[in-house]
Amino acid sequence: MAKLRIGISACLLGQKVRFDGGHKRDRFLTGDFETYAEWVSVCPELEMGLGVPRPTLRLENAEDGTRLIMPKTGDDYSAQMAVYAEQRVERLATLNLHGYVLKSRSPSCGMQRVKIFPPDGSSGSFAPKGVGHFAAVLMKQLPHLPIEEEGRLNDPMLRENFVSRLFAYRRWRELVAGGITRAALTTFHAIHKYQLMAHNQTGLRAAGGLLARPDAFPNDDALASAYLVAFTRIMKRTPTTRNHANALQHMIGYFTKNLNARETAELTQVLEDYRLGLLPLILPITLIRHYVRKFDVSYLKDQIYLFPHPHELMLLNRL
Ligand code: SF4
Repeated sequence: MAKLRIGISACLLGQKVRFDGGHKRDRFLTGDFETYAEWVSVCPELEMGLGVPRPTLRLENAEDGTRLIMPKTGDDYSAQMAVYAEQRVERLATLNLHGYVLKSRSPSCGMQRVKIFPPDGSSGSFAPKGVGHFAAVLMKQLPHLPIEEEGRLNDPMLRENFVSRLFAYRRWRELVAGGITRAALTTFHAIHKYQLMAHNQTGLRAAGGLLARPDAFPNDDALASAYLVAFTRIMKRTPTTRNHANALQHMIGYFTKNLNARETAELTQVLEDYRLGLLPLILPITLIRHYVRKFDVSYLKDQIYLFPHPHELMLLNRL
C-alpha cells in the first residue's frame, strides 16, 4: 500500500528542535502508524531562523488578535512568522499532502486551546483559546486537509476519525488526479455512503443532494468543489455509537432475508451489545463483512465503511 504523505511538527518525530533542544516523540505516530506514513516534517520556529536552543515564544493578547512574542527579549515575531508561514504552506500545498499532525499547545503549531498571555509580560494567563500562528495559516490555506493535534489522537474515537479522514482525502486526491466527472463523483459518493452516514446522516443527504442536481453547477469542477466542502464538513464530525449503530442497521437490511433464525438472533445480539458498549465496533463490522461475502451483496462489497483503514492498526477494536 502506498504511504500517506503527512505533514507533521518535527518535534513529534523525535527531532531535537524544541526551544530546549528536546523533542516530543509521539509513540503512536512513530510506532504502529509509521508503516503507513511518509512524513514531511516542519519546525516553523527553527525554519524561520530562531535556532536551537532558543528562548521560548508565547502568544500575547492584542487588539487585533494575538502576537507571537519572545518574553525574554520582548521581540515580536508575528510578522516574521506570517511571511514564513505563507511561503512554507504554499510549498506544502504543492506536495499533495493527505493530512497534517500538529504539536498541541505550541504558540506556533497548536491548532486550538493555546494559552494566551496578557500583553504586559506578566505571568498570568487567560483561558487557553489561542491558535498557533503557523497552524492558523495552515488551516486557512488548506481548509480541506485533515489536520489534527497529537494530544487529541490519544482519544480512540478522534484517532480513528482522523485516520479515516486521511485515507478518505487520499481517495479524493486520486479521484481528482483521474479527472473529475459526474460519474466518478457519484461512484465516490456511493462507496462512502455508510461511512458518511456514520458521521452525519443529515450531511449525507445534503451531499447526495448536490449530486442529484448537477445542472445547478456551471461545470463538473464547480460541482466537485461544492461536494468537497460538504464531504469535508461531514468527515470532520466524529461518529457516535448511535450513528455507527444506525449505519450498521441499514447495511444489515441488505441481507436480512438471507439469514436464518439463528443468524438473525446472533447479529441482532451483537449489534445490541455494541450499542450498549459491551462489544467493540469491529465485531458487528466483521460479522457484516462475513455476510456480505457469503451472500455476495454487491452494493455493500465496495463500501469503505467496512474497510476504512488497515486492520493492523486495530482502530475499530477500540471503539
Ligand atoms: S511545536 Fe512546532 S515550533 Fe515547536 S518545536 Fe515542535 S515543530 Fe518546532
